[in-house]
Amino acid sequence: MEFIVSELEREPIDFDLELAPGAVDLGEEAAQQGPLEAVGRAEVLHEHRGPRDIVADIRLKGRFAGRFEVPCARCIEPVEIPLSADYDLIFRPSSADAEATERSITAPETEIGYYLGDGLSLEDVLREQVLLSLPVKTLCKPDCKGLCPRCGANRNSQPCNCDAGPSDPRWEALAGLRSRIESAGITPRTN
Ligand SMILES: [Zn+2]
Ligand SMILES: [Zn+2]
Repeated sequence: MEFIVSELEREPIDFDLELAPGAVDLGEEAAQQGPLEAVGRAEVLHEHRGPRDIVADIRLKGRFAGRFEVPCARCIEPVEIPLSADYDLIFRPSSADAEATERSITAPETEIGYYLGDGLSLEDVLREQVLLSLPVKTLCKPDCKGLCPRCGANRNSQPCNCDAGPSDPRWEALAGLRSRIESAGITPRTN
C-alpha cells in the first residue's frame, strides 16, 4: 500500500489490512507465519519553516500484529513468536533537509525518517518496525543445549560423543595448576 503525499493532502487514509506472508520482505532474520495485521492512519503534517517554506511530512500512526518464525540463538531451529507493536512515525521529504545542515538537530528530530519522491510504502515501514521489534535473543526452550561446537550436532536431539572422548591435555595442565594455586591459598602460614 502506497501513501502519496498529494492524496493525503486531500484527506487522511485509515487502513485496516491483513498482509499475506511475502508482502513484507523480512530477509533472513524472520519468516512471517500467517497474516500480518496492520491498522492505522496516514496523514500529512505541515511544517511551517517560513512564509514560503512549508514542508509536507507524512505521519504514520498505527499498530501491527503477527506471528513470525526466527532461529533459536543456540541451535538455529525455527521458533514461532508473536510480535506486535504500536508506532507513531514522522517522515519528512528527503529533499527538505538537504541544504539545512546548519540547523541544530534537537533530540526528537533524530527520530524522524525520510521519504523519497512523492510518498512511501506501508510495506517498507512495516518491514522496519517488525525487524526493530524482534527480540535480541530467542531460545527454542530455556535450557536449549545448542549445537556441539566440535561436530555441529543439535545436542537437543542428537547426543554426540565429542564430550566422551579424551579431554585436551592442555586443559588438564591448567586444571592442575589451578588446584595447586587453590591449595597454596589455604595453606596456613607457619612462622
Ligand atoms: Zn534451541
Ligand atoms: Zn559433537
